[in-house]
Amino acid sequence: MKLAIDRGRVLSEIEALASFSDAPPPSVTRIVFTPTDRRARAWLNERFEEAGLKARQDAIGNVFARWSGSDPTAPVVGTGSHIDAIPDAGKYDGVVGVLGGLEAIRALRRSGFRPKHSIELLVFTSEEPTRFGIGCLGSRLLSGTLSADAAAKLTDSDGASVEQVRFAAGFTGELATVKLADDYYKAFLELHIEQGPILEREHVPLGLVTHIAAPATLRMSVEGSGGHAGAVLMSDRRDALCAASELILAIENAARNSGATDSVATVGICEIFPGAVNSIPSLVRLGVDIRDTELHRRDSVIHQIEEASRAISEKRGVSIRTELLNADPPADCDSAIVDALAQSCKNRGLNFLPMTSRAYHDSLFMARIAPVAMLFIPCRSGYSHRPDEFASADDIARGIVVLADTLGALSA
Ligand SMILES: [Zn+2]
Repeated sequence: MKLAIDRGRVLSEIEALASFSDAPPPSVTRIVFTPTDRRARAWLNERFEEAGLKARQDAIGNVFARWSGSDPTAPVVGTGSHIDAIPDAGKYDGVVGVLGGLEAIRALRRSGFRPKHSIELLVFTSEEPTRFGIGCLGSRLLSGTLSADAAAKLTDSDGASVEQVRFAAGFTGELATVKLADDYYKAFLELHIEQGPILEREHVPLGLVTHIAAPATLRMSVEGSGGHAGAVLMSDRRDALCAASELILAIENAARNSGATDSVATVGICEIFPGAVNSIPSLVRLGVDIRDTELHRRDSVIHQIEEASRAISEKRGVSIRTELLNADPPADCDSAIVDALAQSCKNRGLNFLPMTSRAYHDSLFMARIAPVAMLFIPCRSGYSHRPDEFASADDIARGIVVLADTLGALSA
């Protein structure tokens, strides 16, 4: 297919969208359902209208901009991402998938292509967990991963509920209607910056994601016995921090020994109580993040952590409590979509790398109801979620043309 990507237009749209921000440039801060987010959404809806797409919004604010196919009853081919941005983020995370998806659709239209399956551009609500403490709110509801009741109970840091906040932003309707039918999509494809350094380092312009890793989060608390750092002799101690130190190393080992590079475990939070230099730690709270591309392997890492905590608790006379905060299953990308992406790369003489996606993405949840794949483009130094996040015009244009080819192939 002969496709012309209007890169100047995409770049100016990326700049325009970045101007809807609650932080001064080059930072972008756009939190879901704030006045700034609502203005950005209104601007985006005008772009959709301009492109001849019919947009609808569901009760949580997910936007579906549709290019109707010649067979409107055929399952839909979807693409898209998110436009919310964490405080002091950059211009490209999520946005490349939305505005790139829009340009892919415009390029297909300009080429004279007419799809059989309708093509829908999605803008997911609240991919970032900033406001409600949970990421991918829109796609969790779309896919039925999160129930309407559970979503309604979420609150922001001011104590406002999802219900209050979305109503105030003009998104009424029942949350229960957000879930899509399991046969709604033929395919879903997300273009995204890599958010890591591999493509740039390998000088490869495109990453074809084959697996999407998913995290499990544990909150662990180790309770020992406090006391005076001078008066309590070593033989009488039940030091919570010493026990926690053994536990932290056991967590590292559990991931290291899984035999797969995709297994990772991180203790990112360690709070010590009472936290005085002359006081034996009586309580330590740990926050643990465990990720993998295979569920059974991640479960076995968790199992080993639990076994280690039992052994440490017995040996050191402390009690260790483990709470599983969340555990989303990883997803495999659909081989037919990945093949279509690879075919486009080959036709255009573009190198690509099969990759694992290690961050949270809406595609992880879309995989529950649709065959999915993700297409990565490089970003400078792998930086993301910071103001100097950057993707080059060439890389963006290459991502868009391969996205357009693949949307065309899947919707024909
Ligand atoms: Zn993102």
